[in-house]
Amino acid sequence: MTTHNRTASSSANIALLTFSLATFTLATFTASCSLLPEALQPAGSTAADRSGGPLPDSEPAAARHIAAVTRSMNAQRIAAADSEPYNWLAHGRSNSEQRYSPLAQVNRDNVERLGLSWSYDTMTTHGLEASPIVIDGVMYTTGAWSVVYALDAATGRELWVYDPEVPRQWSRRGCCDVVNRGVAVWKGRVYLGTYDGRLVALDAVTGEVDWEVNTIDRARPYTITGAPRVVKGRVIIGNGGAEFGVRGYISAYSARSGKLDWRFYTVPGDPSLPFEHPELEEAAGTWDVAGKWWETGGGGTAWDSMAWDPELDLLYVGTGNGSPWNRAHRSPGGGDNLYLSSILALDPDTGRLAWHYQTTPGDTWDFTATQHLILAELELDGRERKVIMQAPKNGFFYVLDRATGELLRADAYVETTWASHVDMATGRPVEDPEFDFTDDWKLVLPAPTGGHNWQPMAFSPDTGLVYIPAIENPGLYLNEDEYRHSPGAWNLGMDLGRYAEILHEEGFSPVSSGYLKAWDPVAGRERWSVEMPNFWNGGVLATAGGLVFHGTGDGRFAAYDAEAGRKLWEVPVMTGIIAPPVTYAVDGVQYVAVMAGWGGVGVPSGDARSSIVPEYGNDGRLLVFRLDGPGQVTIPARRDISIPEPPAMDYDQADLALGSRLYMERCNFCHGPLGFSTGVVPDLRRMDASVHEIFGDVVLRGARLAGGMPSFEDVLDEKDVRAIHAYVIEQARTTR
Ligand code: CA
Repeated sequence: MTTHNRTASSSANIALLTFSLATFTLATFTASCSLLPEALQPAGSTAADRSGGPLPDSEPAAARHIAAVTRSMNAQRIAAADSEPYNWLAHGRSNSEQRYSPLAQVNRDNVERLGLSWSYDTMTTHGLEASPIVIDGVMYTTGAWSVVYALDAATGRELWVYDPEVPRQWSRRGCCDVVNRGVAVWKGRVYLGTYDGRLVALDAVTGEVDWEVNTIDRARPYTITGAPRVVKGRVIIGNGGAEFGVRGYISAYSARSGKLDWRFYTVPGDPSLPFEHPELEEAAGTWDVAGKWWETGGGGTAWDSMAWDPELDLLYVGTGNGSPWNRAHRSPGGGDNLYLSSILALDPDTGRLAWHYQTTPGDTWDFTATQHLILAELELDGRERKVIMQAPKNGFFYVLDRATGELLRADAYVETTWASHVDMATGRPVEDPEFDFTDDWKLVLPAPTGGHNWQPMAFSPDTGLVYIPAIENPGLYLNEDEYRHSPGAWNLGMDLGRYAEILHEEGFSPVSSGYLKAWDPVAGRERWSVEMPNFWNGGVLATAGGLVFHGTGDGRFAAYDAEAGRKLWEVPVMTGIIAPPVTYAVDGVQYVAVMAGWGGVGVPSGDARSSIVPEYGNDGRLLVFRLDGPGQVTIPARRDISIPEPPAMDYDQADLALGSRLYMERCNFCHGPLGFSTGVVPDLRRMDASVHEIFGDVVLRGARLAGGMPSFEDVLDEKDVRAIHAYVIEQARTTR
């Protein structure tokens, strides 16, 4: 365990003084009655016997408190999450993953009084995507490089920090920044998936490692960014890496010992070997062996969404896109390529498949179905239904019967050009062949970023609406004539050299928009929509206070009227927010918490028009608000964003052509398509003379490895690096 010296901000100290004298009792897990809607107040209880207070100051007492509250975390407590609304017990708060809180102390009438209660500096400049877990005044959250933070939820006081020491070279294996979306807490332990594929069980009191297992083939470019879930004593975890070439699967480990109980592969393996489980036999018939997908993996990675229905005893998992993206190379003879881009319903005891629904058969556009899964009860066509809902990347909002997988609704929530509609009789999208990969490049809606990405939605049972952080962003697709897998690189079946030419020659400048959309899942249409300056925005929280909270890519945190979409409150943060907010209460005070730190898919965005990162930096922090909070959000200092004169260098068109192609293959996905990133990783046009001098050392010899810039020694040589350097210098000159 690594301990860092961090201090909460001065406003946290004020909060500490205010609340440190309050009493706490282990027996009461409840906040004051005023926080609960009338219907949720337990009969006969009074405010006096529901005093769940803040963490005690003395260390042994705090340790006893943490031990008691985390050891009591079990299935019964999570199943009854609504009886302790002051806590955020699991990733989406409850098994249904609705991200709706019954707390109402902060509501439509008083939300303008929200002020900063405390903040916590993660001292990182990468994307922050975690949903904090809060149990009886103790908070667990995560940051860049899979670091875990245990904090006093009322004051921000640091209890412990665990750093799994992810090898920095591993940053090359991920598509979208070194992010982590949170932990699970269960019977005295905190469970973490690390970026380099380990599953770690920590002692909830001390942050020390209880057990650790490797969940991946370490020779393959797997990563873990998602939060584990604990279901019936098993820790469920998937992984990512489909862009690079891996085979997706989801695994269940014993929460007690870390022993592997079952594993479900989302795509079939080598056809010359036996099937690992019976479902793969059905899947194998939907792939063309001419594509030899098993050599590199096939994709289908389950890197984020899950939900559990304890009554039906089904675990739902969303699966990812195909690898390579382009199906003409992955499965030349066609086929649906099960179980890509699907919602799976699994038996959590055995991992056997109960049903599946494939949102994008034969995916070819990176249309993952790993997006947030929400369970709810809805009246549809005169019948009460237990449903599962998803807005996957492909642009259609799906409502399925979650007992059977029957398709009930599928309506476009953003503009879709790849398919006109979903045929409700067959459950299949009706594709427009015009938007398949061909030799001509074309713009397709949605883009690989999706109509909606991983940023969680929220469902309010009060309004019956689902709130979607939606994206309208056209994607540029073009075929690669002769596809060959390139180990360690992005493998898409897309000609990235020509891609770069098109960006330059056609003056291609995608206009991308982001929205907060309120979606009526029964009517299958939008109720209201608010456009955001940036396309890449944060997840959503809905509350019984009639509010929807949402952070934005352009650095604001805001609350909207859940019914009408009117903005009721906003605070400038000047750090882009992509994480979803959570809310909880300690000692009768409701808090709203959100992690601010831009990154993820938005890192290399060519749509830099509204990025605030270059100007303000990207100071990662956790911000916690309450009514009349006395603090002020610290606005980071502005930076000089001018482009210095690059050094003299002789190069010709041939150098630039090589540099452009290599740049697109190796650098673009983090540093941005034209040499400029939106700032989470350095904007290469702004390198100063000292960095230009060591350019080769940085790219080939890991001179900036500590900061997360990996070495490319295994795939590039001096001549390649010189060409890339020429390309970057040319971009700087052009921009100047
Ligand atoms: Ca993908």
